[in-house]
Amino acid sequence: MAHDQLHRYLFENYAVRGELVTVNDTYQRILTNHDYPAAVQTLLGEMLVATSLLTATLKFSGDITVQLQGDGPLKLAVINGNHRQQMRGVARLQGDIPSGSSLKEMVGNGYLVITITPTEGERYQGVVGLDGDTVAECLESYFQQSEQLPTRLFIRTGEHDGELKAAGMLLQVLPAQDADRHDFEHLTQLTTTVKAEELFTLPATEVLYRLYHQEEVTVYEPQDVEFHCHCSRDRCANALMTLSDQEVNEMIEQDGEIDMHCDYCGTHYSFNSLDIRAIRQESSRNLLH
Ligand SMILES: [Zn+2]
Repeated sequence: MAHDQLHRYLFENYAVRGELVTVNDTYQRILTNHDYPAAVQTLLGEMLVATSLLTATLKFSGDITVQLQGDGPLKLAVINGNHRQQMRGVARLQGDIPSGSSLKEMVGNGYLVITITPTEGERYQGVVGLDGDTVAECLESYFQQSEQLPTRLFIRTGEHDGELKAAGMLLQVLPAQDADRHDFEHLTQLTTTVKAEELFTLPATEVLYRLYHQEEVTVYEPQDVEFHCHCSRDRCANALMTLSDQEVNEMIEQDGEIDMHCDYCGTHYSFNSLDIRAIRQESSRNLLH
């Protein structure tokens, strides 16, 4: 199978659009360097697929963060992606998670937060309770509550050829158009039959043909999906400057340097006393101008 790609498609005879995404390499990169329990690995795969599908529905440039948080053993799980399909994600645990744990067992009393941040314009945040048994179901009820755009997500995760894989599809009624409820139901019935095996092994066009061979479907040029973390030394330095001088000095005295570590990609950024002096000079210069 080729690299990670997102395909958009449109039904000629219905006011419904679709998307299909596979995220193997991106998924591996998110799991690398983390020793997540199996149930958390699966959950991150589902969230990754969902976030990719959601960012592809954006009509502007920006990014979407899908975040689960609660008082359960899984404290936090977050996937962040943008309109260029650059994705990253991380999970934080505060207890044991046996394999086979359900979403509610992992998250406990919690909720799903969807944050949409346009490159220009107002940030929007939506919060939904964990009404559904899966991330897909929770997001479907979010769409029902917020945009009232009927939306269905079909997410598949699993092991194939000794590797964890994740893929999925989305159906959504086009905004400002009246898709017949029965038509949408009909397309949902067709799409829901998609098998993990098909999504993991077949080219997207083949999967779409198998599902919709009696329909007229236009498939657009695919978009690459990739792992990308936008952390940087400058961002770390900025974060350090939000602390008091005394706090920073104490950290330097204790360890000789400050080691900052990005949870998303594993990059270390270290700052010694000379670095700190340079950063302070730089920030005071910026304040003067
Ligand atoms: Zn990073």
